Amino acid sequence: THFGFKTVKESDKATMVRGVFNSVADRYDLMNDVMSAGVHRLWKDSFIDELNPRAQMHLLDVAGGTGDIAFRFLDTAKQGTVTVCDINAEMLRVGKARALTQGYADRAEFVCGDAMKLPVSDRSVDAYTIAFGIRNVTRFEEALSEAYRVLKPGGRFQCLEFSPEVVPLLQKAYDSYSFTIIPKMGGWITKDYDSYQYLVESIRKFPPPAKFKAMIDAAGFERTGFRTMSAGVVAVHYGTRI
Ligand code: SAM
Repeated sequence: THFGFKTVKESDKATMVRGVFNSVADRYDLMNDVMSAGVHRLWKDSFIDELNPRAQMHLLDVAGGTGDIAFRFLDTAKQGTVTVCDINAEMLRVGKARALTQGYADRAEFVCGDAMKLPVSDRSVDAYTIAFGIRNVTRFEEALSEAYRVLKPGGRFQCLEFSPEVVPLLQKAYDSYSFTIIPKMGGWITKDYDSYQYLVESIRKFPPPAKFKAMIDAAGFERTGFRTMSAGVVAVHYGTRI
């Protein structure tokens, strides 16, 4: 493409993703605030509103990292419980420490596992969320079919992810922000320019919302749909296992 992406082999993608999050884990939360000017908090709040957590609900938050989605869920779901699953032990370590200091530890468990092969039983969770995670997974289809497998019938799937399409008026500014400023800032703060370069490229390679919705349909979900926020910068996809 005109962005000059290198073609990354599947096995290399997994290694790359591991390296990225190992290297940024301790500064991950700070970086989110810096790069989105705090707006990721609003996206996550809105995402949890949409989930509309019920009392005693059990949520599986995949690629849950340092716990942002899990803790917001626990704030709204009375007596709710959450399993945070992430492939990266460093991100989970930061998440567990936050759970302890912020008082969520008794309702949250942290497990290490791959979204494409979840260490979770069939039909066992009321809701499945994945936020800014699925684009890092090597094969999206396999993550979607795992989401379907672990949900109880009637269970809700929700995904929050950057979208490759923004409104045309914003495209130029958005391109220079993401391709020039983000890797530079990432380089200054975490000393890891390449990781942030990878993150930006992975956003542009992710399918546009209509195409991703079709993949969710293909995994067997019903009542699927999506909405975008911030002029198309992020999309929320949803579906139900009937
Ligand atoms: N959900 C958190 C949030 O919104 O702040 C963390 C998002 S972070 C950008 C992406 C996370 O996906 C990382 O913690 C990374 O380790 C995890 N991840 C990448 N590939 C994964 C996979 N195949 N299975 C599970 N987690 C994965």
